[in-house]
This record gives sequence, C-alpha cells and structure tokens, in this order.
Amino acid sequence: MKDLPDKLNSIGVERRFALDIGSVIAGIRPRGLMHIPVEQKNSLEQILIQYGLIIEAQRALYRQNDSNSREGILLDSCDDDSATEWCEIWYSHPTATRVNAEKLFLNTGEFLGYPPCCRKSMQTENALAKLFYRYIFTDKDRFWELNRLATIFHHTILMPDFFPCSLSCSSALSYVIPFHDLAKGIFPSYEYIKTKKQMCSPITVIGDEIVHWSKWHIEESILEVDVNSAKKEKIKKITALYQNNDTSSALLLSFRNNLFPQNQIRPNQLHIILQDNNIANINLLLC
Ligand SMILES: [Zn+2]
Repeated sequence: MKDLPDKLNSIGVERRFALDIGSVIAGIRPRGLMHIPVEQKNSLEQILIQYGLIIEAQRALYRQNDSNSREGILLDSCDDDSATEWCEIWYSHPTATRVNAEKLFLNTGEFLGYPPCCRKSMQTENALAKLFYRYIFTDKDRFWELNRLATIFHHTILMPDFFPCSLSCSSALSYVIPFHDLAKGIFPSYEYIKTKKQMCSPITVIGDEIVHWSKWHIEESILEVDVNSAKKEKIKKITALYQNNDTSSALLLSFRNNLFPQNQIRPNQLHIILQDNNIANINLLLC
C-alpha cells in the first residue's frame, strides 16, 4: 500500500485520502466513501479496483461553497449555477456484506462506523460552523490525534475524512487510533513524523486569526515561536459563528500531547521572534 498516496496524487486526489482507502484495504472497516470532482471518477475507480476493492454504490452530487464554514456542501440536486458536479463513490472490502445504495446514502455515518455522538453532531443545522467553533473556542483537553484543525494549514493528517463531535471525544479517539497505526505503514516515515509534529504544534488565536506555528519551543512560562513558521487563516472563514474577541491576549489551544507534559508550568507569555530578530510579547491564555 506504500504506493497508494503517490497513485492518488497522480490523479489529483490529496495524499491524506490514502488513509480512508487504505483502512478498507486493510480491513479496519468494511467500506469507505470518496467525494471527488466528476472528471477524476474513472481514474479513482481504476485505483480502487487495482487494490481489490468493490465499487458498491455511486451518485452525482453538486458542490457549493458553505458560506458558514470553509468546507464545501454536497447536495444531491441543485439549481445554483455556481455549483460544480461531483461524484460520491462507495467502495467496500470484498468480504463485506453488500448494502443497498439507498440505505448507504441515508445512513452515511453509520455505515462508515462513526460513533453515534459524532454522527448526531453532523445532523444539526450549520453543523460544520458549529463544530469548528467548538474545536477552537469551547473544547478542553483536546486529543492531538483528533486535531482536525491541522487540515486548515496542512494537506496530510493522520485521520480519516471525519469530523469528531469534539476534539476531546473519547469515542472518536477509539475510532481514529487504528488509522494512526495504519498511517505508519502507508506514508514514508519522514512524512509520518512530520505530520505528527504538525498535529502537535501550537495553535493560537490572535485577534481575528487562527495561527499554526511549526517552529516553537517552551521555556518555563514562555512559548517562543518563529514568525516565519506561521500559517494563518481568518476565523470568520472557518466558522461564521465567530464574533470578534478581545485582542489584548492570545489564546493557546490546549491539547493532550508532549507540548504539555503533565505537571509542567503552563505558558502564559507568547514571544514571537520577528524578521528583524525583535520579539513581540503577548499575554497568553489557555483555551
Ligand atoms: Zn463523538
């Protein structure tokens, strides 16, 4: 399966989807699905068949940008001229019990094995805007293994294309752990290590932006970051539920990872090393 990420890349599909497809090849779950632009459909089907998978169901969908989050929304019919035609392809392991296409379309999360709490959170109105708001502002003790926010800044993450109900959901963690193990066998080790590092790097909210820092270190109560390693996005683009916050302090999203070993002093100052080697100092609050 080592060549799967490159094969997908060669037809214009992001490498991270190798985990979704690889999980079915490896028998971690019986089936998966892909949403892709219609022009990639035939090439993707060929790859799925090469790996011994069965094409179980498919349908045409229309992709519209979601004005409330940065994601796209897929609809089964659409009058909007700006929508583009996409395709939903369900694929399954040859030993999986076949399921009627209508059932798959109606109970997507259930047939992909998502935990009930996470399925329920996707069924509310403006689900993605609410989830991203929760991930950034209200979750506590987040698991780095579920760091879906890393996809805002990087193409590859070590989890399937799935939105947990929160970044501290233990059922979602149990669902995702086998994908982390699989990732070690699918991605080259340098890519696995780099991706894990990106999922564990500090994420801050400064003013109206969310910022990911690849170069950082902590010394006592100071988190020092390099301005050249920053990747930023406007929070309004990620969740329309965001109202401008107080800008006098930065927020540091707390994850359970080696950035915060047990009993270590929590940083309360952010030092940003600027281009000219000067330092910008901002109060830091844990969130
Ligand atoms: Zn959940």
